[in-house]
Order: sequence, then structure tokens, then C-alpha cells
Amino acid sequence: MLDCAIVGGGPAGLTAGLYATRGGLKNVVMYEMGMPGGQITQSSEIENYPGLFREDPPLTGMDLMESWPKQCQHFGLVHEMKEVRRVSKSDDAFIIDLGSEKVEALSVVVCTGSTPRRAGFEGEEEFFGKGVSSCATCDGFFYRDREVAVLGGGDTALEEALYLANISSKVYLIHRRDEFRAAPPTVERVKKNEKIEVIYNAGIRRAFGDVMGLCGIELQFNDGRENMTLEVPGLFVFVGNDVNNAVLRQEDGSFICDLNERGEVLVDLNMHTSVKGLFAAGDIRMDAAKQVVCAAADGAIAGMQALHYVQEKIG
Ligand code: FAD
Ligand code: NAP
Repeated sequence: MLDCAIVGGGPAGLTAGLYATRGGLKNVVMYEMGMPGGQITQSSEIENYPGLFREDPPLTGMDLMESWPKQCQHFGLVHEMKEVRRVSKSDDAFIIDLGSEKVEALSVVVCTGSTPRRAGFEGEEEFFGKGVSSCATCDGFFYRDREVAVLGGGDTALEEALYLANISSKVYLIHRRDEFRAAPPTVERVKKNEKIEVIYNAGIRRAFGDVMGLCGIELQFNDGRENMTLEVPGLFVFVGNDVNNAVLRQEDGSFICDLNERGEVLVDLNMHTSVKGLFAAGDIRMDAAKQVVCAAADGAIAGMQALHYVQEKIG
């Protein structure tokens, strides 16, 4: 029986593991289906993790995360490179279904993160992290006083377009319809912002660039206008986000704990879910700021809470 099973090895999972093991839990396994580090390892530059900054060459997401697993392993965290299929509960333990085997654990911290949806245009994958981004807080500053484009018509796209308008010289907001689904006050602010040019009824046909990264995008219209090219070094895609909550789904289709309408796990300030002994941390939880420093902080809280929970349970 494990003291604690951690599902996901991004910043939240690694930090949960660090705090749980360093706090005294002996038998803690972090299940991470790939290499530990999480989605930030896809980023070519990170400059908002406090205390760690490098200008030339810039710090990559990979650089940032490199030492985290070693630090956790030093205190006894075990990484198993396995995908968790499902977390369920029996009378006195959680069951971690790994497909080929099932493992029991007294407590579980779920840190499976989220996945920004892709729009699906040509070149999107090729230039992701090299000009194409899904995080304005993270990458907006790289386009200070330069022109950028934003794709999407929801609250995220419009709010991020407003954020980028404070940094960039101009923001092209591209939306596939002629009406936004974002909240009306946000739409009004966008329409009033002189730095934002809205391009309606348009999609991206392809993104193009060179070895240095994105150089521009080709737009196609669904109202008969001719294709046009925007030469922008930055493109922000906000077409929705999928929370990776599949491991919480039970055999009967229900979820083991309470989620909100977006599929995010409901937690209190101590990262407790609606099920005792089950914690959630990082991008998967409700109202997550979707930043590395916040995911790590959540992980620290969840790790400490799992420690208290197990110590109380086993006396
Ligand atoms: P994740 O990092 O998503 O980690 C979740 C992990 O769980 C993944 O490694 C995944 O493989 C694993 N996993 C999922 N399901 C399973 C399963 N069933 N079994 C086993 N393992 C599983 N934030 C910043 O603060 N600054 C930035 O500059 C910045 N730039 C970014 C740039 C890009 C391109 C992207 C995509 C994100 C960026 N972010 C940035 C956001 C940041 O990466 C996330 O907020 C953070 O990584 C969330 O951490 P997490 O641990 O909650 O989840
Ligand atoms: P969203 O509401 O699902 O909006 C996604 C947008 O992307 C839509 O405008 C959609 O167009 C467009 N889109 C989807 N797929 C596309 C594709 N392949 N190509 C081009 N465009 C595509 O996602 P979100 O903006 O991330 O918001 C998610 C949820 O969080 C929403 O409930 C939102 O209200 C909420 N949220 C709230 C706040 C806030 O309250 N301040 C802030 C952020 C998010 P269509 O409109 O044509 O479908």
C-alpha cells in the first residue's frame, strides 16, 4: 500500500512529491507517463519564474525543470513512467489503475494538468513554442512593441487580446464568426481599444516561418473575401482548454469527485477535493492561474495536506 500516489509529474506533481517525501512520507510514487516536467518543457523561454532568470541565452522550460526530479528523488520520491487509467476508491484505500496492474494508496494527489486546444491549421504544431503560443502572460512580453495576432472569440481570447494590447504595438484579433461569445463588457472593451483590429469571419489557413520561428500567417475568409497574409512574429491561439480529468472518471461514467461545468476539480484552499484523502493541484483545479509558480505552490499545499491526512489515518 502506498502512502501517497501522485498522478502527473509537472510542476504541481513534482512539488507535491517533494513536500510529501521531505515531510516524512516513506512510500510515495509519482506516476508520470512521460518525462517529468510537464507542459512548460515545451516552452522555449520562461522569464516569470521568480528567482530564475537568464537573458542570453534565455532560460527554456526544459532548463527550468531539469533539476526538479533529481531534487525530489533525493528525498525519496519514486517516479514510475506509467499512465494512470483511473483513480477509484474502495472502503479504505484508493485504487490506481495502471492497466496492467492495480496499486493501492492511502492518499492521492491528482496533477494531470490541462491541454490548450489546438485550432488545427497547417504549421500550428511546427511553430508551437516558436512564435505560436497559448499563454499571453508567459510569452506576450517577447512581442513588446511588435505586432501579434490572437485567434478565438471567447473570454480568454478577448481578455488576452486586451492584455497583449498593453505590450504589443498592435493586436489582430481573428474570429471565425461575426459575433463574439465572450461577455458583452469584454467585447465592448475590445471594440474600444485602438490597438486591437478585429478580423471577423476568418480562420488561419497556415502559419509560416523559418528556423528562427514564426514569420506570419495566412488568413482565409468564410464570407468570400480573398486570402490575406499577416506578417506577425507572434500568434496566440485561444480556442478553449481541455482539463485532463479522464483519470477521475469511474466505470459508470460519473466522476470520483466534484467538478465544475468546465471539468475542473473543485478544491478548497488546502487543495482538498470533495473526497477525503484525494487532493488536486495545478492546472486541473478550479480557478487555476495556469502558471508554473502557482502549480508548484498548489503542489506544495497538496503534498503537506496528504502528509497530514496519512499521518492522522495511520496514527
Ligand atoms: P502540467 O504541466 O500539464 O503537467 C501534467 C503532467 O501530467 C504532464 O506531464 C502529463 O504528461 C501528466 N499526465 C497527464 N495525464 C496523466 C496520466 N493519466 N497518467 C500519468 N501522467 C499523466 N507558465 C508560466 O508560469 N510561465 C510561462 O512562461 C509559461 N509558458 C508556457 C508556454 C507553453 C507553450 C505552455 C503550453 C504553457 C506555459 N505555461 C507557462 C503554463 C505552465 O506550463 C502550466 O501552468 C504548468 O505546467 C501547469 O503545471 P501542472 O503540474 O498543473 O500540469
Ligand atoms: P470558449 O469559450 O470555448 O471559446 C473558444 C473560442 O474559440 C470560441 O470563440 C470559438 O469560436 C473559437 N474556436 C474554437 N475552435 C476553433 C478553431 N478550431 N478555430 C478557430 N476558432 C475556434 O473558450 P475560452 O475562451 O477559453 O473560455 C472557456 C470558459 O472559461 C468559458 O466558459 C468562458 O466563459 C470562461 N472564461 C471566463 C472568464 C471570465 O469570466 N473572466 C475568462 C476566461 C474564460 P465560436 O465562438 O465560433 O465557437
